[in-house]
Amino acid sequence: PSTLTNGSQHVHKEGKKHKRKHQASPLAQRLQAEREALPIYKAQRAITDEIMRHQSVVIVGETGSGKTTQIPQFLDAAGLTQQGIIAITQPRRVAAISIAKRVADELGTKLGDKVGYSIRFDDTTSPSTKIKYMTDGMLLRELLSDNKLKRYSAIILDEAHERTLRTDILFGMVKAIQKERKDLKIIIMSATLNAERFSQYFDNAKVIYVAGRQFPVRTFAAVQRQEDYVDAALVATFQLHMEEPRGDILVFLTGQEEIDNLQKLIEENARNLPPKCPKIIVTPIYAKLPADQQAKVFEPTPPGTRKIILSTNVAETSITISGIRYVVDTGMAKVRSYNSKIGMESLVVQPISKASARQRSGRAGREAPGFCYRLYSEEAFDSLPEDSEPEIMRCNLASVILLLKASGVDDVVGFDYMDRPSRDSIIRALEQLYALGALNDDGRLSSLGRQMAELPLDPVYSKILIQSKAFKCTKEVISIIAMLSVDLVFYTPNDKREQAGQARKRFMNYDGDHITLYNVLKGYQSVHGDAGWCTENFISGRSLKQALDIRKQLVTFAERMGIDTSVSCGTDFDPILKCFLTGCFQNVALRTPTGEYKTMIGNQTVFIHPSSVLFGKKPVAVLYNELMHTTRQYMRNISVIQPQWLLECAPQYYGRGEAPAAR
Ligand code: ADP
Ligand code: MG
Repeated sequence: PSTLTNGSQHVHKEGKKHKRKHQASPLAQRLQAEREALPIYKAQRAITDEIMRHQSVVIVGETGSGKTTQIPQFLDAAGLTQQGIIAITQPRRVAAISIAKRVADELGTKLGDKVGYSIRFDDTTSPSTKIKYMTDGMLLRELLSDNKLKRYSAIILDEAHERTLRTDILFGMVKAIQKERKDLKIIIMSATLNAERFSQYFDNAKVIYVAGRQFPVRTFAAVQRQEDYVDAALVATFQLHMEEPRGDILVFLTGQEEIDNLQKLIEENARNLPPKCPKIIVTPIYAKLPADQQAKVFEPTPPGTRKIILSTNVAETSITISGIRYVVDTGMAKVRSYNSKIGMESLVVQPISKASARQRSGRAGREAPGFCYRLYSEEAFDSLPEDSEPEIMRCNLASVILLLKASGVDDVVGFDYMDRPSRDSIIRALEQLYALGALNDDGRLSSLGRQMAELPLDPVYSKILIQSKAFKCTKEVISIIAMLSVDLVFYTPNDKREQAGQARKRFMNYDGDHITLYNVLKGYQSVHGDAGWCTENFISGRSLKQALDIRKQLVTFAERMGIDTSVSCGTDFDPILKCFLTGCFQNVALRTPTGEYKTMIGNQTVFIHPSSVLFGKKPVAVLYNELMHTTRQYMRNISVIQPQWLLECAPQYYGRGEAPAAR
């Protein structure tokens, strides 16, 4: 195999053959053969030696070379798990789940036994777990109860090149912990070559380059960018399917809604294919896809069929799916964007970086030469930024600063950031935490702040949940928070718009989406999750099941804090909306004389999203759950409020005599 050349160390020493202790099952034999075929397998000894010899190492290797699945097993074989658990962090929950399952299979153990995963609202680990896949957010949270990470012998920060907010914070935390715990191994893993930054940051840590295996990929560019890239993806996919020989197709999109739409479109169109055309199997994969439905994407494609995988950027470097020969790249991704001047965060669909585009095309060439169809022009590619900006530079920092404070880091400005966020955005976050009551006048964590940090929610929602006790509406608030944490409650089939609209009216509440969501969950509970009821009402049973599950866990958390979760406000919904305002006070928009909406903070023009029950209505003031920028800046999940509630519910924010935006 060809090793990458611009590095300090090449690893291709012969590893020892794995000894089999007992007669292996056919599945175990197949998995063992697949392991041995991975480029990384031959380097087992060399990699293990390097890690055992150094405190910190950086491992760089092409996506699919076996870093995430194999290196924890190498370290286990070397005896490191006798000293403590190995943690492997992932930016995405779907990667943590699917990879943990895979590794449990490879080791021939049950998930949750030796290998497990831990993500928010779902922990499969047990006292016997030695290899623990987890989201970066979960490890950050564990620092609250175990600030030296004493249970762990090694921390593997995977997908480091993605530079997610939480992984960035973990860099600084584990580096500080290692100063006191010389025995703790830190392993940084990245799929892109620019490992120098990581090495420098971790006191010139050793960089190990793992040989990759990549076949050539022919890339095609569109003559010009299409307005509707979902439609363009549909056309490209069918063209490939009709004209090109076998091999699965991977389509990159930006989120669940698009994926669901395209899946429906493909399935509708597939009915009209000539009979000699291979059958199409569409498999979606995105962060919130329930664990039991993720497995489908990894199942081998049956002969005579073609799999079309619709994915967010989770398939860019986090997970590897075999059988892909064709990639369709829309060139877009949904990212968080933050304007620290006005303290406004929103989700934006925007063009990806060159590095991402190259990773995406690389997915077509893992097993054989492949093809990548970019739905944007060559000039558009040339104008893309080389790399995307680390998330820490473009999001609201309140949640991580609360966690830092609660983990004992008081000086959040002087924290050892790999890339320092702007002073503005740190100050904005501190102000927001202060206004939420999480910080005292001297900037230290208040007792409310400590409670807020314990809840597995954004500080805004932690505050709301805790406040629900005072507003006597905990039962409703917990349901609504659970519903807000799942995507896509209602769905609208193209051919049944009318019926779907009618069905939705049954739950509609004119106070807005929050109460409407509450009504839906209440209905679902009253029929005990009946699937027929979901279909009749055009409601996603998948999402509702998940919401109920989240609700259960929030109830456990709340009861532990001494909050009675059965307290209800009955049919008077004002307390619920006021309670939301005690947390969401920054997310308020007012109607202007011209009938537009302007945000209270920053005076930005925003619109009511068509999916809202308030669409077409013109209330004077609304609160919203999030901003989503597509063609316009849309508010999503919106409810009507009274302007005079602002002072009552957020006196620390609105009671200063001047508009916060004016400063
Ligand atoms: P890397 O971390 O270097 O990108 P991985 O360790 O994730 O590589 O992948 C190694 C191999 O394991 C790939 O060939 C991939 O197809 C396979 N693999 C990983 N997860 C799964 C899964 N859930 N199901 C089936 N195969 C998997
Ligand atoms: Mg990986």
